[in-house]
Amino acid sequence: MNRSERFSDTDLCVKCGLCLPHCPTYNKTLDENESPRGRIALIQGWAQGSLAATPELVSHIDNCLLCRSCEAVCPAYVPYGSLVDRFRGETGEVGKTTSARIKSAGIKIALTNKRASRWVERLVEKSGRESKGLLQKTGLLKALGLSQFDAGLPDISTSVRWNDFYPAQGQNERGRVALFLGCTANLLDAETVSSTLLVLNRLGVGVRVPDTQVCCGALHHHAGDQASARKLMDRNLAAFNLSDADTIITIASGCGAMLRDYRQLEATADLAKRVKDISQFLAELSWPDNIEFKPLAAKVCVHTPCTLKNVLRAERHGADLLRRIPSLDVASLPNSQRCCGAAGSYMLEHPEMAKDLRDDVLESVTAIKPDFLATSNPGCAVHLRAGLKQRGLGHIEVLHPVTLLARQLVR
Ligand code: SF4
Ligand code: SF4
Repeated sequence: MNRSERFSDTDLCVKCGLCLPHCPTYNKTLDENESPRGRIALIQGWAQGSLAATPELVSHIDNCLLCRSCEAVCPAYVPYGSLVDRFRGETGEVGKTTSARIKSAGIKIALTNKRASRWVERLVEKSGRESKGLLQKTGLLKALGLSQFDAGLPDISTSVRWNDFYPAQGQNERGRVALFLGCTANLLDAETVSSTLLVLNRLGVGVRVPDTQVCCGALHHHAGDQASARKLMDRNLAAFNLSDADTIITIASGCGAMLRDYRQLEATADLAKRVKDISQFLAELSWPDNIEFKPLAAKVCVHTPCTLKNVLRAERHGADLLRRIPSLDVASLPNSQRCCGAAGSYMLEHPEMAKDLRDDVLESVTAIKPDFLATSNPGCAVHLRAGLKQRGLGHIEVLHPVTLLARQLVR
């Protein structure tokens, strides 16, 4: 198959422009090259041989957040995310400076390499279980040019080794699932993991946590490194090949979206069909009568990550779950709200656009005046927490919806 045939799905675009108002980068720049329609035309021109993959052309594709808001509204069902992933896979390092390549490699190693994570975990354990202080002391983030990541880390996060299995509470197990941790869970999101286990067990669901699971591969896949993404996918397929836990629960919507996209890498990757976001799973479960929550006189603002909305299509469940907590005022951000700018490693590689987009979200959050900001993706949480702190709004706690649910659960 030649290149034009491999990218023939660019021909599906009828250039209607319905996606343009939904595109964050187009709205900020009003440049057609920074729009979904423009980017598809650039990929089409390159695939058909009329355009070269110059650094300028590649930069327009690299500036895309892969939020997939365009894909969600496209009447012609253009598989936009897949097109960009494949384009990046074929153009590789074109237009990347040496420092950008080093930074990109550093980000992937720091966030996704199991050996690097274990090394940081061991240091966390030695340093009084305070990850933020540790990362500051080692200068690791500064060395990688990731200082802005620092402000968004939770104040305290512990390094935890999870058991292989967490049994359901009570006499009868009502179901069994497997939990996908995501590569940053141990360091950045341990409370979300323990909250998920607690709520599932209390609802009568047993949880397997396969020890051999690895990073989902999203950062590699979206950066065009398909070979590494495929290796990680193969290891996860083996880890989750369980006979007694069909559903795979994700607590980071970015990871959930990548697991769903495994079919892009391997047509037979049936793991994609088994993936469910924790909020959706809990919202669809029939609950026993004896589950109660302590009232909480506070306001929570619910942020919907793009991956939860545009790929997992599970945007309403987080707010629905939080409404189970008596006295809690649950507010959602306006429907017109676009990507917060986190977008995996985008916030580190395109800090100015990421901050600009985050500012729009935080304007809305500030108007709502919440006590909590709930989001289902740890990357968005880090990015939003950093922005709140910079605005002197560090008292607004950023957490996963299931964390608030677990804190209020009557044990
Ligand atoms: S990507 Fe879809 S919505 Fe956007 S211009 Fe093309 S056909 Fe229209
Ligand atoms: S994925 Fe998001 S940023 Fe990229 S073109 Fe589509 S709407 Fe725009």
